[in-house]
Amino acid sequence: GHASALVLAGFRDVPDFPEPGVVFKDITPLLADPVAFGAVTAVLADLAAATGADAVAGIEARGFMLAAPAAERAGAGFWPVRKAGKLPPPVLRRDYDLEYGSASLELAASAVRPGARVLVVDDVLATGGTARAACELLEEGGAEVVGLVVLLELAFLSGRARLGDRPVVALHVQD
Ligand code: 5GP
Repeated sequence: GHASALVLAGFRDVPDFPEPGVVFKDITPLLADPVAFGAVTAVLADLAAATGADAVAGIEARGFMLAAPAAERAGAGFWPVRKAGKLPPPVLRRDYDLEYGSASLELAASAVRPGARVLVVDDVLATGGTARAACELLEEGGAEVVGLVVLLELAFLSGRARLGDRPVVALHVQD
């Protein structure tokens, strides 16, 4: 639909970034286009309202840019899920494996409210490792993940399969 076309038009393909053989999907043009950014924010806010989300969690850093305006628009709180080492203690932490090496995400213990309904937002779903770690972190804090929303799902990387039963909505799917 409309959001899918806007997402497609708003992404720029960058060959061989961050390493040879990878085509990076750059979200910068979408953020800079007020029509596309506004439409995407509206869709995300609608999904937050439809799922009865108390909070919208964004995954650092591009997820912040999408989740924060959607949360405000939906009348929900915004919870940043951060790369390790940025937040003051106390934090909840989740380590996860990448294709090469590992990474960690953290959540402020003071942000997560047990029983809160939270919608998780990121720009791209690739292998699913990042989104899964974010969901597990929120669940460890006692929140209920009502779904994951991404602008773009790279379906050939099967990220959705790593998210179990959690509902996943992609505004655009690339096969
Ligand atoms: P995954 O953990 O699913 O393999 O990777 C998803 C995470 O890496 C997301 O946080 C996303 O922002 C980032 N990412 C991976 N590939 C791309 C890409 O091609 N474009 C953008 N914008 N982000 C990507």
